[in-house]
Amino acid sequence: MQQLSGNLFIISAPSGTGKSSLIQALLQRHADMQLSVSHTTRAPRAGEQNGVHYHFTTVDDFKARIENHEFLEWAEVFGNYYGTSRAAIERQLAQGIDVFLDIDWQGARQIREQAAGTIGIFILPPSLTELQQRLTNRATDSAEVIAGRMAKAQNEMSHADEYDYLIINDDFAATLHQLEQIVLCQRHRFASAQQRQQPLLDQLLAKPIK
Ligand code: 5GP
Repeated sequence: MQQLSGNLFIISAPSGTGKSSLIQALLQRHADMQLSVSHTTRAPRAGEQNGVHYHFTTVDDFKARIENHEFLEWAEVFGNYYGTSRAAIERQLAQGIDVFLDIDWQGARQIREQAAGTIGIFILPPSLTELQQRLTNRATDSAEVIAGRMAKAQNEMSHADEYDYLIINDDFAATLHQLEQIVLCQRHRFASAQQRQQPLLDQLLAKPIK
């Protein structure tokens, strides 16, 4: 992928860690940050809107998009396909927007191989007991699905060491603050800030006016 002006953040966590709520809260505070809307073959949950939470699609359509190389990454998670649209991400980054990918470790690996300079953030729950409680409270999935996700949570967490940053979501406000600090630090790294501030740098370094 070519060098583009926005930053690409990958956020992974086992389901029930509060990842989506944290990302949404962060985006509400920053108009120049956006979440990538993935394609998925899973059925919409109550309240989920096509094009907002996901682009819901069929297995046939998803496979055709794989063939057309439309995905920057894709993976099978819990028996459904999920993928990130290459064109959408490149469009957002080219506009200088910081883009967040809420994807699993398999997708994160594929992105890292293709796009240098991505920032990976892994969010952990404070304990397995707490994670189970959160998945049960959410109650949008069947008991069987919850049990499956608990089993897979440990597998997901075993990949935390592949990320650049690790945060624990035990207190929502504190974790949001930590996430925001990581994102803002990244934006102020010279290579990232320079792309936004080049006109100012040019102006400041121009010959003094006599
Ligand atoms: P859910 O079905 O609960 O919305 O998501 C299940 C898992 O799939 C989550 O861990 C989420 O991060 C992951 N996921 C969502 N979209 C994508 C995607 O486009 N690519 C990959 N690799 N994982 C995704």
